[in-house]
Amino acid sequence: MYDILIIGGGTAGMTCAITAAQQGARVGVVEKSDHIGGALHWSGGHMSAGGTRRQKEKGIADSVEKHYKDILNITDRTGDLDLIRMAVEEAPHTIDWLDDLGFEFAPECPRIIYGHIPYTEARTHYGVDKAMSIYKVIKPLWDDQVQEGNIELFLNHTLVGLEKIDGRYTTALTDSGRDKVKFQGRHIVMTTGGYGSNPAFFDRKHPGVPLMSSAYPTAMGDGHAVVENAGGAFKYGEFHIPSLGGVELTPGRCNFNTAWANVLTSVYRSPKEIYVNESGRRFMREDEMNADTRERLVAEKSDYKFWAIFDESAIMEKEENGNYNPIMLGETLESIKAESKNENYIWSAPTLEALALKTGLPIENLKSTVLRFNNMTLAQKDEDYGRAYLNNTIEKPPFYALLIHASVLVTFGGMHVDKELQVLDESGKVMEGLYGAGEFLGLGATSGKAFCSGMAITPALSFGRILGKRLASS
Ligand SMILES: Cc1cc2nc3c(=O)[nH]c(=O)nc-3n(C[C@H](O)[C@H](O)[C@H](O)COP(=O)(O)OP(=O)(O)OC[C@H]3O[C@@H](n4cnc5c(N)ncnc54)[C@H](O)[C@@H]3O)c2cc1C
Repeated sequence: MYDILIIGGGTAGMTCAITAAQQGARVGVVEKSDHIGGALHWSGGHMSAGGTRRQKEKGIADSVEKHYKDILNITDRTGDLDLIRMAVEEAPHTIDWLDDLGFEFAPECPRIIYGHIPYTEARTHYGVDKAMSIYKVIKPLWDDQVQEGNIELFLNHTLVGLEKIDGRYTTALTDSGRDKVKFQGRHIVMTTGGYGSNPAFFDRKHPGVPLMSSAYPTAMGDGHAVVENAGGAFKYGEFHIPSLGGVELTPGRCNFNTAWANVLTSVYRSPKEIYVNESGRRFMREDEMNADTRERLVAEKSDYKFWAIFDESAIMEKEENGNYNPIMLGETLESIKAESKNENYIWSAPTLEALALKTGLPIENLKSTVLRFNNMTLAQKDEDYGRAYLNNTIEKPPFYALLIHASVLVTFGGMHVDKELQVLDESGKVMEGLYGAGEFLGLGATSGKAFCSGMAITPALSFGRILGKRLASS
């Protein structure tokens, strides 16, 4: 029997295993895929913390209290306030720990990030290589503990069930494809991640909400399903909000790292386009700064998607600083034009009529929407939505239509835990022996009903460390 059996060797699971093993515990890690690291391989790795050494070095006066207060304001005091408090208290220690390990901060950070409702201080920290910068510094610690025999890793083993002995969860049933294997631990820590890559599970928790996923492929809600079967309580699903900018690369899937539209806020880019719904009508001011407002306006539409309509001059126009800033992140003017020839998620045509035919948007509506927008731009007054950025008419062919989805990077619902991170059942009773950390708890637990920058990955790392330390000595 292991001292600690960890289910899922990703963000939270790795830090839990490392910390426990460093304290001398015997740790078993069951991982369903053929590699460790989980969402670290894809994540943006934006970590928030108030009061870090890095902030002090940069002359940023911040604190746990300010971070906590900001989260309460941003989320309207939703989420689990005990967990949020614990997360922000541990966050600076987590960042300093990474710093000690040689974490390579991006030179410009910490920053205020406007892709979410902004904090009042520059407290979002990230690496030069997104979340892989985290992986790079924790992997050597993991390897040391594996080498010393303190961590035993079982790849390609999927948790399928849990069993109790004498009222305590000590046994995990796994399936390796060839064998059914039982693992035992005095404590079992669930770190199986989210459920954004499982359309059936997502639909059960968010009926009627379309899923266009950019979650890590292993985020299948396996852990949620197993723990729910055992009587665990699922919470915070009602806080679900999507992220803006996904384009559909394969059916039902977007990819935050390879093709993403820069439409989450107009702080970083002035919109040269208009956004229209499936009726070819505008539905919001395209220069809205507040990311949360934008996400909610798209989520009010039952299809969670919209079209950005622009013309050739919009593609060619530079920002005030003289740089091109195309609507697709990381793309060039040429690559956008080339992609439009593939007609996967962006289309172009010599006339608005032809564009409407290609996209299925109603011809007359699209034409009248563009005409009205052009007239309002010439008059420098958006009478419909109050847009202030009115620098471009849309009249120089070819015309473009980019189909943009509200996409799921991270899931808000998760399993209910108490402030000791012990999983609770439907009646609020502790499921003895069972603990949870990371997205298994749901982003709603640590970020309430809004996206707070860095409040998924930092709590995942921190709660993993807290559990590793605590359980190793109990
Ligand atoms: C593209 C992208 C960008 C993001 N950007 C940010 C950001 O900038 N800031 C932020 O705060 N958050 C961000 N997030 C979210 C954040 O990265 C994740 O919430 C966090 O990394 C999840 O950590 P975790 O340990 O819970 O899960 P993971 O790291 O996903 O690990 C879960 C592990 O459990 C394994 N597993 C699953 N089911 C089973 C099973 N049945 N049996 C055994 N093993 C199993 C998986 O294979 C995986 O290895 C982003 C997410 C994505 C996808």
